Amino acid sequence: MSAPQVPSTVLSFEDARRVVEEQAANISVPATESVDLLSAAGRVVAEVVLSDRDLPPFPRSTRDGYAVRSADVAQVPATLNVVGEIRAGEKFERIPRISAGQAVSIMTGAPVPNGADAVVMVEYTSPDGQRVEISRNVGPGENIVPRGAEAKEGSALLVPGLCLNDAAIALAATAGKSHLMVYRRPRVAVLATGDEIVDVNAVPEPTQIRNSNSYSLAAQIREADGEPVLLPVAPDEPRALRRLIEQGLESELLLLTGGVSMGRYDLVEQVLAELHAEFFFTGAKIQPGRPVVFGKCGLADRGSSKYFFGLPGNPVSTMVTFELFARPVLEALAGQGARKLRFLHARLKSEIRVKTGLRRFLPAILSGEFEDSQVELVPWQGSGDIAATARANCYLVVAPDCGRIAAGEWVAIMMR
Ligand code: AMP
Ligand code: MG
Repeated sequence: MSAPQVPSTVLSFEDARRVVEEQAANISVPATESVDLLSAAGRVVAEVVLSDRDLPPFPRSTRDGYAVRSADVAQVPATLNVVGEIRAGEKFERIPRISAGQAVSIMTGAPVPNGADAVVMVEYTSPDGQRVEISRNVGPGENIVPRGAEAKEGSALLVPGLCLNDAAIALAATAGKSHLMVYRRPRVAVLATGDEIVDVNAVPEPTQIRNSNSYSLAAQIREADGEPVLLPVAPDEPRALRRLIEQGLESELLLLTGGVSMGRYDLVEQVLAELHAEFFFTGAKIQPGRPVVFGKCGLADRGSSKYFFGLPGNPVSTMVTFELFARPVLEALAGQGARKLRFLHARLKSEIRVKTGLRRFLPAILSGEFEDSQVELVPWQGSGDIAATARANCYLVVAPDCGRIAAGEWVAIMMR
């Protein structure tokens, strides 16, 4: 069988990322399911959640103090008569209306009574608690959140595509949603390749390597709201590899690892080309992860074509290329709106020198505390060094034209 040639398309990091984002933007949303609110964190909401009441539902006092008419305290010092107390949750009927010269003791989170338009601290309370003295000027609205200022009844609190973080969960609870419609998790097939790769339970021969990529990818997939489907390790043999690729294309996304470099037994691209795959790129000018492949492949008898990534087999390359390229596609398949990749910045602890030409994502440690954070590279043996990468808590991002960065300079980092 003559191996079809896959033309080499090696893009800059930014162009490769753009290609991925463009494809992700065209992915249609998945099916939905209902989950209870306690299981909804980290899922992607698939319904519009409307506020069933104004938020806050009443003018809310933001502190313990005295509800007053601001006009009464335009001239200070002013003495006011205390006509009652309002606790949080006070029955509506029991809330007094206050008139000129009056104040009412009020607690944080309690409804501000009609007539009052400010909540104040007092400088003096008479021993019987009947009178208070205010000696600081108070403007209208002080320490009160007006009814509906946070959200109006009927307004959208959550919209489809939003990943449910703690605040979103709190909003759903506030709106009385004990169950939420979320998008189904996309299935992501994981296919590790390589004659030397053996199962995690195997006792490896001296020259064999246990499969770690399938497991690191499964962890990353779960974190991005996907459901990993681990396939058996594929040998570097076209027929077996093809059978497993065909199996993998039954999932919504296929991630292969290994077999995408220029070696004689790197067969992934060749087998995908035999299956008439479309290739968007076959490399990106990054390190680690240069041989990363992205494309789409359909099987005549199995519905629509599916996206695939051929991730380089070196374990750190696999992790980095998943983060940079596979994650946005997975997030789109999970119903999330396209998100930009944003780097944070920190000061470099000690000078680094690298060869120019590639954008680098180097395992690094962000340390320090509060505003005083610093980053430094983890010494490593290259993109196969899982042990060094496990000690890292971020990647230091080095621009392709940058050969040296001095200690103390601000550098970009990508958290992990
Ligand atoms: P490859 O991309 O197939 O040339 O593999 C590059 C390096 O990554 C080789 O040293 C492989 O042994 C190693 N490697 C490939 N796949 C895996 C895997 N699934 N788990 C751990 N190491 C791997
Ligand atoms: Mg290999």
